[in-house]
Parts: sequence; C-alpha cells; structure tokens
Amino acid sequence: MSTTVSAERHNVVIVGAGLAGFHLASALAKQGYPGDVTLVGEEPWQPYDRPPLSKQFQLDGDESHIWLAPELGPAVRLLRQCHAQAIDLARQELRLDNGSTLPWDRLVLATGSRARRLPQWGASPRVLTLRTLDDARRIRDALQSVASLLVIGGGPIGLELAASAAALGRQSTVVELAPRLMSRSAPAAMADVLLEHHRSQGMAIHLGRTVVALDEGNAEAVLDDGQRVPAGLVVVGIGVQANDALAAQAGIACDDGVFVDGWCRTTAPGVFAVGDVTRQRNPVTGRFERIETWSNAQAQAQALAAIWCNPAAARPYDAVPWFWSDQGSARLQCAGAITGEQQAWRVDAAGGRVLVHWSGGQVTGVATLNAARDFVQLKKLIVPRPTITPEQFRAPTANIRALVQQALAA
Ligand SMILES: Cc1cc2nc3c(=O)[nH]c(=O)nc-3n(C[C@H](O)[C@H](O)[C@H](O)COP(=O)(O)OP(=O)(O)OC[C@H]3O[C@@H](n4cnc5c(N)ncnc54)[C@H](O)[C@@H]3O)c2cc1C
Repeated sequence: MSTTVSAERHNVVIVGAGLAGFHLASALAKQGYPGDVTLVGEEPWQPYDRPPLSKQFQLDGDESHIWLAPELGPAVRLLRQCHAQAIDLARQELRLDNGSTLPWDRLVLATGSRARRLPQWGASPRVLTLRTLDDARRIRDALQSVASLLVIGGGPIGLELAASAAALGRQSTVVELAPRLMSRSAPAAMADVLLEHHRSQGMAIHLGRTVVALDEGNAEAVLDDGQRVPAGLVVVGIGVQANDALAAQAGIACDDGVFVDGWCRTTAPGVFAVGDVTRQRNPVTGRFERIETWSNAQAQAQALAAIWCNPAAARPYDAVPWFWSDQGSARLQCAGAITGEQQAWRVDAAGGRVLVHWSGGQVTGVATLNAARDFVQLKKLIVPRPTITPEQFRAPTANIRALVQQALAA
C-alpha cells in the first residue's frame, strides 16, 4: 500500500485536545511540519494526562503533574472550549459550536471516548463516573466526606480508584457482573492473582453480582443476592464508548469507533483518526478492535506525524497493544493477546509474577505483576516472531533478559 502524503503545505485541524491530539500536534511541531496545525478541544483546560486521575491525583490532589501543554509550543494553535459539531466533507470545513467554521486539508479525529453510564442512577449526585479532570476533582472532593466507596465494574480504572480510596482509609468495595476481574483486558490467571492481592489489602470484591438498588439514606447499595454493601460514594466504571458521532454523521465508517487503516486513514479522503476513538487492526489478534490505552494514543499519533513529516520513510502503524495499571502497590502490565493455547508462569525472588502465552508456538501475550523489567524484555518477542519455548521460560536458572536477547539475535 502506498501513502497519499506529499511534501506540500497542508492546513491540519485536529479535533480533540486529549492525549492523542496533543501528541500529534506536538510531534508535528517538533518535526517542523510545513503547515498550519490547529488543535480544537472542548474542555476548558490545556491538554492533560488521564492516568494520574485514578491514582496519585486521588491521593494528593496535586495537579502540577498532569498538564501536557508546556511541550506544545507556539507552532500549534490551541482552541479551548470549542466543541466540534459537524464535518462538511464536500467543503472541507469543520463547524464549531460558537458558530465559526475551520477549513481543513487534513482533518484528524482524536475525540477519544467517554465513560459508559448506568441511566437508572444518572441523576444522583452520589453516583459519578471517571473520565475527565472535572470528574476526578468531583470524586476527590466527595471522597473527603464519605467513609466508603463502591465501584461498579472490575476493570483497571475502577480497581485503581478503589485501591486509591483504600489507601485514603475509605472502605472500598468493587462489584463486578462477570465471574472474574478485568475480563476484557487481562489474562484470567493474572486477574485471579490480583483478586487475592486486593482482598488481602482489605478491599471487598463481589464477583458475578450486580447492584439492584441504592439506599442513599443509609449510604448503602443492595446487590442482586440481597447483600448490602457500604456506598457513601458510587463510581460507575463499566468501560467507555467511542466519541464517534462526528464521523458517523459525516458518513464515515464507524462501529463504536472510527475504522482506520495502518496509515490512520478513515473511509473519507483527507480525514484521519487516532487514539481511543479508532477501531484498528490489532496486529496480534488480526481483528479490528478499539485499543483504549495510553500507549496506543501516544504511539498512533506519533506514527501519523512521522508519516506526514517523512513520507519517504513512512510505514504503517502496527504496534503491539500494551498497557499498565497501577492498583495500589500492584503494577500490572499486559501486552498482546490475553489468551493463548499454552501458558507458563514464573515467580521471581521478590514475588513478581510473569505470565506468558503462546499460540502456534509463538509468544502472543505477556502479563506481569510487579515485574516491569521482565515485561519490557518479553514484550519484544510479540509480533517480531522470534520465540522462546515454555520450557526455556520456566527453567529456574533462566535469565529472562539473556533469553530474549538470544532469541532476537537468532
Ligand atoms: C482515569 C483514567 C486512568 C487511565 N489510566 C491508564 C493507565 O494507567 N494506563 C493506560 O494505558 N491507559 C490509561 N487510561 C487510558 C488513556 O488515558 C486513554 O487511552 C487516552 O487518554 C486516550 O487518549 P485520546 O486522546 O484518544 O482520548 P482522550 O484522552 O479521551 O481525549 C479526547 C479529547 O477529545 C475531546 N473531544 C471529544 N469530542 C470533541 C468534540 N466534538 N470537539 C472538541 N473536543 C472533543 C474530549 O473532551 C477529550 O478532551 C486511563 C484513562 C482514564 C480516564
């Protein structure tokens, strides 16, 4: 496949001043992109980083670590508090909610995703979601005056928040409908280890259960088996949906996410997409998926900047998906597929856990708990396709770094 890029000057408009939009604008500016770059964000703040919002920010409220914008530079025009309302493909214009229009030669959708809600409790001030800085501030304020937090949903962000609340001395409870934690994002065996870890730290976790009623007077929730659990504050953490309405209204192919190819192109000429909002081919599973991770938002945006700034060396984006999740003292890291035909464990001397999956004799997934160095090494074996065997990996004397280097050199 060849790219459609050329060295001519382009007027780039990026919709969404989150992580992906920021990294695209910033990479274009750093690489001296010969065109005008406008970043349109609906939030009132400069771009910020979301991962701290469920972790350190809840503990200390320090906002100084979350701002991304000092790196943006004067080459990028940042429009804040501007909601993009419609794309006119024929005129190559973007309509904003303040009535103005922005012309573009290249339009990039970096609109991210939003938290799913439970409509039955949407009106209660005690039931919140966590996606934005405003959400995080509201949760942090509310946590000051309650004794307990109930998180509905056992995904990474909910577990991070529950661990932060526990560290603040709040009684933390997680209710998850599935029979296990993190069913979409982490291998089952690793999720079981985390379950034990959190329970040993005093977190109450109810699997295979759901909340059927809130008793706000008693600051409790009622589960479907009749149990009552403390719920001074309730945070719904049941995943996200793509902000793809702009694209859908313009007739661009979407299905809970904007379809893109390896060059970040949508089905409309001149319109691209990066970050959480995209539905892209996962190089490990071969399926078109939403990859809702910090590393994807950053790397996909940087890949698009590289494609535009250096068309001669352009290559399609095909990074192996990975993420980290800091849940109290537990650092989970996962890369590639979360299942495989074969799996093997190692536990290191410090208690760190390493789980590797193989399919068709190839390493297809790695998950670690408090074993960051091994994660970095083993991740290199996914997709490049050199491999190690489960026997080599399990051998008690094996040094992971040496094994990986040997495989990569072969
Ligand atoms: C609390 C929290 C903790 C997280 N922790 C981790 C972690 O530990 N590890 C990890 O890998 N990932 C983590 N993530 C996920 C990671 O932050 C996201 O994958 C990443 O932010 C996606 O970047 P994005 O730019 O695609 O979307 P976003 O960061 O959501 O940015 C999209 C922006 O577009 C704006 N926008 C949307 N529509 C419009 C419009 N029409 N007009 C103008 N602006 C618009 C939105 O307001 C938003 O500011 C976390 C996410 C959250 C919320």
